[in-house]
Amino acid sequence: MNIHEYQAKALLRSYGAPVSDGRVVLKAEEAKTAAGEMDGPLWVVKAQIHAGGRGKGKFKEADAGEKGGVRLARSVEEAAEEAKKMLGRTLVTHQTGPAGKQVNRIYIEDGSGITRELYLAILVDRATSRISFVCSTEGGMDIEEVAAHTPEKILSFSVDPATGYQAFHGRRIAFSLGLTGPAMKQCVGLMGILYKAFVEKDMEMLEVNPLIITDKGDLKVLDAKVSFDGNALYRHPDIQALKDESEEDPKELAAQKFDLNYVALDGEIGCMVNGAGLAMATMDIIKLYGAEPANFLDVGGGATKEKVTEAFKIITSDPNVKGILVNIFGGIMRCDVIAEGVLAAVKEVGLKVPLVVRLEGTNVDLGKDIIRNSGLNVIAGDNLADAAQKIVKAVKG
Ligand code: GDP
Ligand code: MN
Repeated sequence: MNIHEYQAKALLRSYGAPVSDGRVVLKAEEAKTAAGEMDGPLWVVKAQIHAGGRGKGKFKEADAGEKGGVRLARSVEEAAEEAKKMLGRTLVTHQTGPAGKQVNRIYIEDGSGITRELYLAILVDRATSRISFVCSTEGGMDIEEVAAHTPEKILSFSVDPATGYQAFHGRRIAFSLGLTGPAMKQCVGLMGILYKAFVEKDMEMLEVNPLIITDKGDLKVLDAKVSFDGNALYRHPDIQALKDESEEDPKELAAQKFDLNYVALDGEIGCMVNGAGLAMATMDIIKLYGAEPANFLDVGGGATKEKVTEAFKIITSDPNVKGILVNIFGGIMRCDVIAEGVLAAVKEVGLKVPLVVRLEGTNVDLGKDIIRNSGLNVIAGDNLADAAQKIVKAVKG
């Protein structure tokens, strides 16, 4: 799960990290009051979307020369004006894709004087199975570019989970970033704070780009991008409450509400399957017969009729879906329940594309009878290979 920059900064502030004072605004009318609560002489007006590269991003229908999603202002009035210009519009960055993201929240920050822009991230390194710090002197720009052209400028240090974070980690990072004096000392403290927040909140990634040295020589978190491990959210209601649903894929959001394991993909065949392994096998066999799955969907072992109906609705709401393959092994779940769920869903949402159903297991004959006697145009599959071939043929001709 991702959160906005202003939420990440509030979280890091609560751990003691140095961040600028700021206010979030949802309406243009609030911008002037919000900006007026800070002293200036510099304000930064920042579009809040779940994507990086906002500074270099472009708004749709922008005039030539119009600034991106991070703007500097020299007065309260100018800050309010810039906030008003950005709210409600669509910002396109290298991370949003061409469709861009609508800006519904603006963060107005007390502007900082910058001496250096550095890069810092904490992530879980799969190769070492450890939490690692990644740092670079080349902050403020695309780290992907730095990685592609000057990879030697990116350094990483992993932390032994048995010891956790130690001051020497912080000193190594400070040394490789070329920090001296107070910034060196602050680095040791700040890395400890960030590491603690990362572990306690079950973060997946914490990226600070840029981490700056201010004109007064102090370290500061100027941008913050945080994502959390979705499987650990159940123990962090405070983090769950930060979810901005307007940033999520509506299909994946609906799936979460009904506890369905759903991942949207690019293909044309929608799949409804019970069990993650069977879902994988179903995706593989669709590819084997020459088509692509439109999604991964595991309705789970104990799915109800309602759950099946919701799953069906999610699949059919995807305009890329040109055919649907239902592949269910009735073990814990009975085939007749599945069949009734499928029919209820078809009746509710209609069926505009071919549907192949393959049932196997408990009450399979009852399930097949229900489908056969439904009067609906549903194609029965005898086994997995047969069903996959039938749906691919129905879609591809
Ligand atoms: P991103 O483009 O989405 O990564 O947004 P950032 O928060 O990283 O801001 C982009 C750039 O704007 C930074 O690299 C800075 O150069 C600049 N910037 C952001 N905040 C300030 C600030 O408080 N003062 C100054 N002078 N520049 C800032
Ligand atoms: Mn940034």
